[in-house]
Amino acid sequence: MHRRRFALGLAAAGLSACGDRLAAAPPPPRSLAPEPEPPLPAPGPPPPAAADTIAATITGAALETRADELRRRHDGRGFTVLVEPPFVVVGDESPEQLQRRCDRTIHWSVLRLKQDYFSRDPQQIIDVYLFADSDSYGRNTRELFGEEPDTPYGYYSPRHAALIMNIGTGGGTLVHEIVHPFMAANFPACPAWFNEGLASLYEQCGEHDGRIVGYPNWRLPGLQAVIEARRLRSFAELCATTSDEFYGARSGTNYAQARYLCYYLQEHDRLRDYYHAFVAGADLDPGGYTTLQKILGHRDMPRFEREWRRFVLDLQWG
Ligand SMILES: [Zn+2]
Repeated sequence: MHRRRFALGLAAAGLSACGDRLAAAPPPPRSLAPEPEPPLPAPGPPPPAAADTIAATITGAALETRADELRRRHDGRGFTVLVEPPFVVVGDESPEQLQRRCDRTIHWSVLRLKQDYFSRDPQQIIDVYLFADSDSYGRNTRELFGEEPDTPYGYYSPRHAALIMNIGTGGGTLVHEIVHPFMAANFPACPAWFNEGLASLYEQCGEHDGRIVGYPNWRLPGLQAVIEARRLRSFAELCATTSDEFYGARSGTNYAQARYLCYYLQEHDRLRDYYHAFVAGADLDPGGYTTLQKILGHRDMPRFEREWRRFVLDLQWG
């Protein structure tokens, strides 16, 4: 796309970026190789939401204290521990590489997500573990957390207040997972469909006019196939899904439908407005469907859904 300056791709495509939720689509073989690290964004003025808002709830001193705790806890493992507000980042790549992850992926995405969506930081410090490859990711997840990862790419563990990633698969998974603790802090009642829709929008992302934008990604072909088979549920049904239903048997399609609804809203410059209207009206409209109708100008929804399906079928990935 002409506007793409760089992109953080979910390199290891085919599986959900989100933790224990496996998507239905098999991984396309051509995407198994890790993508190259994206170049630094072109220099420009920082977005208006700056680090001083980050310090409002989690102080720099608290982050440094946590970093020292983790250095002591993991002494002898060869880890580097860095502070990148509002996170503490632990990794087994070189210190220079870990610093680049902090700058290019975490700092970059946190600033832009805060600029558009999130006024509050997570209320507790989240530890971000970035393991260099599948071996160290699997071994360390077992040793440090007593868990067997059920996704090769990474997941958010609210129980451990940690994002645990195989960063060798690329930065897109990390951006996806960063959305979740921010959503929990800012929109705790957010239904799974929108939480995952927005998070998965940014698993393939870049920047346009200083704002984070999502791009078409590996979830597109499967969604197009379901649309062509006339098996996609309506947005009224999607918005009404419970978490169990969303993460259930149709989870792959649900992620994709939610992602490309967010993508459509982004492309029509309605996504930020939709998020903020959704938060403001969630007491009366917890699934967000009525708010969606409002944001779309109370259009006839069957007609909108036909337009959206055509929009999705006309998209291209790769
Ligand atoms: Zn997720």
